Amino acid sequence: MANRSLPDLTGRTFGRLTVVAAAPTSPTGNRRWRCHCACGHPELVTATTGGLNNGSNKSCGCLTLAHRRRRQAAMRAKHRAPYARSEALGVTAEFDEPPSY
Ligand SMILES: [Zn+2]
Repeated sequence: MANRSLPDLTGRTFGRLTVVAAAPTSPTGNRRWRCHCACGHPELVTATTGGLNNGSNKSCGCLTLAHRRRRQAAMRAKHRAPYARSEALGVTAEFDEPPSY
């Protein structure tokens, strides 16, 4: 069947993914691969040749998750700072005496 020489990506590494085997071709005709993620995710990830080559498939999703967590933490820090400041101001205002002049 395979009379066209398809690039064999087995053993290649893309980001955290290492291609361990060829997967059945997708219904749209994309060559797919079973990949193992370096994070130790127990399940193999299926990625297309295009996804691996253009860098959209680089992990089982753990990279995206780590990225999102970092962004959420950054956003929380950003939101917490002004809140803490207004809280501090509120406390100060409570103890402020009215101007006595
Ligand atoms: Zn992973």
